[in-house]
Amino acid sequence: MMLLRVLGAQGPEPGPGGATAGFLVESEGYRLLIDAGSGVATRLAEHPEPDAVFLSHFHWDHMADLGVVGYRHLRRRRADPRLAPLPLLFPQGAWAAGEELATLGVFDAVEVRDGESRALGPLTLSFAATVHPVPCLAVRVEDREGCTLAYTADTRYHEPLARRLEGADLLLVEAATTEAHAEVKALGHQSAMEAGRLAQESGAAEALLVHLPPDQDPVAALVEAQGAFAPMRLGRSGQVWRIAHPAAAHAR
Ligand SMILES: [Zn+2]
Ligand SMILES: [Zn+2]
Repeated sequence: MMLLRVLGAQGPEPGPGGATAGFLVESEGYRLLIDAGSGVATRLAEHPEPDAVFLSHFHWDHMADLGVVGYRHLRRRRADPRLAPLPLLFPQGAWAAGEELATLGVFDAVEVRDGESRALGPLTLSFAATVHPVPCLAVRVEDREGCTLAYTADTRYHEPLARRLEGADLLLVEAATTEAHAEVKALGHQSAMEAGRLAQESGAAEALLVHLPPDQDPVAALVEAQGAFAPMRLGRSGQVWRIAHPAAAHAR
């Protein structure tokens, strides 16, 4: 059984009391933080420290809190020098920030690339390039029971991505707009309709719509996405999902 905690699901900035991208995945007691957006560290502080961090890309709404997530680990390492640096996975060629933290020995920097798979504790991560202005990787996370979570990260609609993220028990799929404001797609994002189409084509059992801006009517976006993928729901910080395989995810 895999557990997903949605720490933040907005983009590109948080609304009042909100947070941008941050997803805490847990299996067999191992915790992986996917993205560390604005407001994520506050919510992460309610949980034990993660065992590893994956950053889909270096845009602020996915990494704004990385530094303070690192400081938390730095303080723990000072108290217990046996603690290893925190593995930090990110797309090859994307390392622009965090160098100060790397020199402090906080992170064990690991570059990953399109098509690659990595084992982290009980999890296997597989990466797929998205269509975005900077190097960005979608990820498929599978545990030893076969429970699978997939995350599109930020991307324009890109039909091959559906195949790369195929058959997830739960898909986190980005949408930054409705079709009514489709100009945002040129910045490397999907409309809610396209997010629904991608979820449908990927054969996901269930899906959560993430990355909506705080001034977007979430219900309008959800209705648009459900036109292509009826089981779509809205991702919201504070949600906890139990991901079982075969698909039986339940919100709490
Ligand atoms: Zn981005
Ligand atoms: Zn973003």
